[in-house]
Amino acid sequence: MLHIIKERLHQQYRTLDYPAVQPGLSPRCLGRPAITASPCANCRACLDACPSGAVTVRPEGPAIDMGRCLFCGACARACPDSKIAFTNDHRVAAFDRSGLIVTGGAPQAGTPRQDLTLFSRSLKLREVSAGGCNACEADTNVLGTLVYDLGKFGIEFVASPRHADGLVVTGPVSENMRQALLDTYEAMPEPRLVIAVGSCAISGGLFSESPECHGGAATLLPVDLFIPGCPPSPWSILDGLLAIKHAGQPAPADENSAATSTRQQHDN
Ligand code: SF4
Repeated sequence: MLHIIKERLHQQYRTLDYPAVQPGLSPRCLGRPAITASPCANCRACLDACPSGAVTVRPEGPAIDMGRCLFCGACARACPDSKIAFTNDHRVAAFDRSGLIVTGGAPQAGTPRQDLTLFSRSLKLREVSAGGCNACEADTNVLGTLVYDLGKFGIEFVASPRHADGLVVTGPVSENMRQALLDTYEAMPEPRLVIAVGSCAISGGLFSESPECHGGAATLLPVDLFIPGCPPSPWSILDGLLAIKHAGQPAPADENSAATSTRQQHDN
């Protein structure tokens, strides 16, 4: 008993004070891209460097599809004019697929589903790894630890889809997992929502061309929230989940930063 008390005193209080205090991503973790809007000459450096086809070059400059991006930073390193940079901003979630396209202009609009307010007090989630590599799954799983303390936001992962409001999908949806994913969705009571976590679940990621994969959750299910990354930071996932919880209503004072920011991003 004394040992337990001693260890408890040693460990002290480990839950981080989020979202009252915003997290700082590790310098090794790339967050939301920032692009300088100016026309490119005949340069294809960023396109050639990108392993996932996430970069396009438009007349006004480069654009990055965060739904395909691996956040490897190769395009930023390749650009001779430093038009592409990566911030440490973890807030990358979007209610709309088009909201994941980052250009030099203002973020594009995305509108949350009207009935998301139903989940503002309680949100139960069922996770399906549809051919994932376990990276997105690990960063989702870690939200249940005392550091992130997901339960304090009224959000929980549950074992049965019949108890779930939302389906969290990770992985590119392999053929082997297609029917299991559809069955899980069908087992959930309505209203239900779908959250695609990670580039694979959003677009198929590096596996988008594979005949054994279905190019992400949106090819089979109506996706209501996209959380990009490879894998997304746990903070990015938490920020996206809080955006659902706060959709269509003012955020509480102690939870205002991340969710409000994400919502404003789509309301602009
Ligand atoms: S950071 Fe994203 S857009 Fe840039 S090269 Fe890597 S995968 Fe492509």
